[in-house]
Amino acid sequence: MKKAIIRNNMLLLLSALTLFFVIAFISLYQIEKKHQTSLMSFLIDEVETSYVNFDESDFEFVQQFSQNDRRITILDANGFVLADTHDDAVGKDKSQRPEILDLGSIQSRKSDTIGVELLYIAKQLDNDMYIRVSIPYESQISTYNQSIWIFIISSIIISIVYYIGLKKVNSNLLKPWDKVKDGLSLLNQGKYQMMSLNSNYPEINDILHEMNQINYDTSLNLIHIKNYQKQSNEILNEIKQVILLFDHEKNLIFYNSKAKDLFDLNEDLLNKNSYNFIRDHELENAIDKTIDFDQLFHKDIKINNQYYDTFVLPLHTESSSNEFAKVLVTLKDVTEDRQLGQMKKDFISHASHELKSPLAAIRGYAELIQLDMLKKQEEVKNVSGKIVEQTKFMNALVEDMLMLSRLENIKEEHFQDIELSSICSKVITGLKQVYKDKHIKLIFDKEALIYHADPIDFAKLFKNLIENAYKYSPQKSVIKVSLTKTEDQKVCFSVSDQGIGIDKEQQSRIFERFYRVDKGRLEGGTGLGLAIVKHIVIKYNGEIKLTSALQKGTEIKVIL
Ligand code: ADP
Repeated sequence: MKKAIIRNNMLLLLSALTLFFVIAFISLYQIEKKHQTSLMSFLIDEVETSYVNFDESDFEFVQQFSQNDRRITILDANGFVLADTHDDAVGKDKSQRPEILDLGSIQSRKSDTIGVELLYIAKQLDNDMYIRVSIPYESQISTYNQSIWIFIISSIIISIVYYIGLKKVNSNLLKPWDKVKDGLSLLNQGKYQMMSLNSNYPEINDILHEMNQINYDTSLNLIHIKNYQKQSNEILNEIKQVILLFDHEKNLIFYNSKAKDLFDLNEDLLNKNSYNFIRDHELENAIDKTIDFDQLFHKDIKINNQYYDTFVLPLHTESSSNEFAKVLVTLKDVTEDRQLGQMKKDFISHASHELKSPLAAIRGYAELIQLDMLKKQEEVKNVSGKIVEQTKFMNALVEDMLMLSRLENIKEEHFQDIELSSICSKVITGLKQVYKDKHIKLIFDKEALIYHADPIDFAKLFKNLIENAYKYSPQKSVIKVSLTKTEDQKVCFSVSDQGIGIDKEQQSRIFERFYRVDKGRLEGGTGLGLAIVKHIVIKYNGEIKLTSALQKGTEIKVIL
């Protein structure tokens, strides 16, 4: 700005000076011309008067009156030179000279006779002769030249003085603007500083005052915007979803902490294209389509073996600027939901399948009775016994399913301090009665243990594990049940038997719902017993250890 002001002012000055020169020179020229006319008129009149009063020859006259470079020419009525200050001209015809043709006019030209630039004027005498006077032109223009030099030198001096003065005024005038510039750059860095109103120009002080007000308001707005942005970022980081924002060229302009973890993002990837960190083609294509066709995309996408409910949304702003985000991508981890959904589906199909077999059996037995096919009382008794057995199985199945569902949807806790060994003793007493025909010896190693828990959970846990030991043990074998405290004050419950054992390959699967090693085995239960045990252990943050060898026996240990 400084340079532009100086340049423009100097151009203006030079233009003004040039205009001034042109006008001055034209005026000088006119004055000079007037001066020449009066000088030449005076000269010719003087020479005429002298000539009229001169008694001697023309030659004598021109010799006598040609002084100070003045040249006199006497011509006859036909324009032939009779006498001339320079002899060479005598006898020559000068009738066609412009000063002779236009008497009284002042002519300037280079003389053929003496070869210098001359000013001419001629006059006709009463006897029709002509008299002509000429003087050198150079003497006339020297004053003109002199004034040109004076003009040039004075212009240079004026320009220099003007330039120095302009610079000084300029810097005084621009000082406040430098302050404004500094103030704005500070504001840009988020720092507000008041500018002092000490300029010599009141108008500038008014502007500075206005600028101070604008800067102050802007700084307040900036603080608000920054706070708002900080809060928004904190909220977005707290959200349990992956959030990404892209501009119109698919460059990343925002990511939250979940996105950072999922895509391994860092600050360097800001403003970088999405292909640098998104490896999923479907997601990449969705972002492309959203940018190109303003389309919304919603689908489950699998990334790193996890399922994400993914939205890719076009964003609209009122501004047409490309700086703003054009695409919002959100990903919600729904792996658990999807797995749970799948588990529920599997559970329903398994449960209905499990219920089908006893129902079919009951129906078959009932039809036998209905069609009166059982003749003997004994046969009827036998079939009704089987119906009761099947209904018992169904009842056990439904009870187990309810127990599982209860464990999954615990709404109310019935926790209380319970004495575990007494619950376990009751369970053992009941089971001994059921399996008394097997003549199994059960050794119970117990310790009095108080535990804060739901008594139903522990009754079920003890029953399922001890009953399995009974079910899968041969006659007259030994079952050892132990309920003790570990060194680190944890509850350790273990059941070991000398039964059929579990194959290595099956060991990891026996805790699944409805999983039975041998489906056809008569002793087999609902297939939900160990699944229930697993859920109870998870509920109390415990762990299960299984040791088993085929035909040798099994030990299941629960530590809580
Ligand atoms: P079930 O009602 O069939 O006993 P569980 O879930 O309790 O169902 O057990 C799943 C499977 O694990 C059983 O079918 C059985 O094959 C095997 N199993 C469980 N406990 C033992 C054990 N103590 N000895 C041998 N096999 C066992």
